[in-house]
Amino acid sequence: MRKIEQRVRFCKLILLAFVCGIILFLVRYVNQADKWYTQPFNKNLYSSSGELLTGTLTDRYGTVLSRVEDGTRYYSALPAVRKATLHIVGDRNNKIGTGALNNLREYLVSYNSGKGSSGITDEGNTVSLSISADACVTAYNALNGASGCVGVYNYRTGEILCLVSSPTYDPDNVPEDLETNEAYDGVYVNRFFYSVYTPGSVFKTLTLQAALEQIPDVTSRTFVCEGSVKVGDNTVTCPQKHGTLSLSDAYAVSCNCTFAKLAVEIGGDVMTEYVHKAGLTASYKIHGFSTAKGSFELASVSANQLGWGGVGLYHDLVNPCAVMLYYGAIANGGKAAVPTCLHSVTDAKGRAVEIPKATFTEELVTPSTASKLSVYMKNNLTVSYDKSRFPNVPIGAKSGTVEQKTGKSNSWFAGFVDSEEYPYAFVVIVEHGGSGSRVAGEIAAAVLKTLIPVP
Ligand SMILES: [Zn+2]
Repeated sequence: MRKIEQRVRFCKLILLAFVCGIILFLVRYVNQADKWYTQPFNKNLYSSSGELLTGTLTDRYGTVLSRVEDGTRYYSALPAVRKATLHIVGDRNNKIGTGALNNLREYLVSYNSGKGSSGITDEGNTVSLSISADACVTAYNALNGASGCVGVYNYRTGEILCLVSSPTYDPDNVPEDLETNEAYDGVYVNRFFYSVYTPGSVFKTLTLQAALEQIPDVTSRTFVCEGSVKVGDNTVTCPQKHGTLSLSDAYAVSCNCTFAKLAVEIGGDVMTEYVHKAGLTASYKIHGFSTAKGSFELASVSANQLGWGGVGLYHDLVNPCAVMLYYGAIANGGKAAVPTCLHSVTDAKGRAVEIPKATFTEELVTPSTASKLSVYMKNNLTVSYDKSRFPNVPIGAKSGTVEQKTGKSNSWFAGFVDSEEYPYAFVVIVEHGGSGSRVAGEIAAAVLKTLIPVP
């Protein structure tokens, strides 16, 4: 008898597990069917090589970037648009993980719950990306074949207006030596989201932020630059003697001697706290992927190394997108919108499909320090960066020139537009470009001119 009772209990348990499994399946079916439906294993939506065969991508102004006709996916008819937007649109084989064809597929596919799939169809949603194809082409042309990236976004809405990663290629004319030619190294990597670089002088903004909050008399001090200074057991050097400087001058001429001494005075632990708070070691989640985290060693290094760290020239590394957000937060009173590539989505009947609302970072900078930093950064443009190259709107920026073991220096230029109408933050990095203010600055100016019509 006992044996039978045991078996009955066992059968009941199995039945219970079965019923629970069915309930779990139904709950997931209701909640996640649209996500299952869009997975690459759904052969009704994808070609045998994994190419999504439904949905249209346009830029924010309706310029078609990718569409499907008679079961074939087409890109823009213009080679420059195809190359300039490749990393944000995506390639045919999903090797570029950040492409919209891959990571926005749940918006491209028109899922009709209960109906399922009825074979490969050109019908699908139209996803309007937030980028301007014109601005991307301007950035691509301005990069002139150099490796690097250009990003511009709206720090209030999160919309990315321009994103170009280089090297790139034409998805309709894939080079035969794409996998073997050194010129295409890292071609599938979207450098804006996934690369990290030595920040150089764009990091001086963070040292300035910490100095303004941690050193009470810093704004009334006078600094003297002799071209080199002993910091700890070794020297820190400037490319030239900067002479007598105010804090604002030292930032505008990017004096290493001044900023190295400030970093040591602030201390490695406190500098590290500021780095984390500013989001420079954060990883931001954007449409299902995460940006690369920066890495900093300021807390555990010698005084001389901390000095070089304070001017962005030690072993520390930052991600360009995180730099752009930090500068966006300075312009926006301390917090910035997290970037998105989505502008709007409409279904085949022209009805709007709901998209997520903008999310914001934590407070990266206190509001009062953000407004002070904004003044310093705008002063840089007047003093150091040939304002006449840029659109006639208030712009704050910082450049960086980072020597490389071989070839020319890496060139940085990052900042923001202080405008109600054009609340944009931007970052440009050109690998082996040379002077930051000249080369990357020129690219930033060209792209901003495309995005901000001259009155
Ligand atoms: Zn100096």
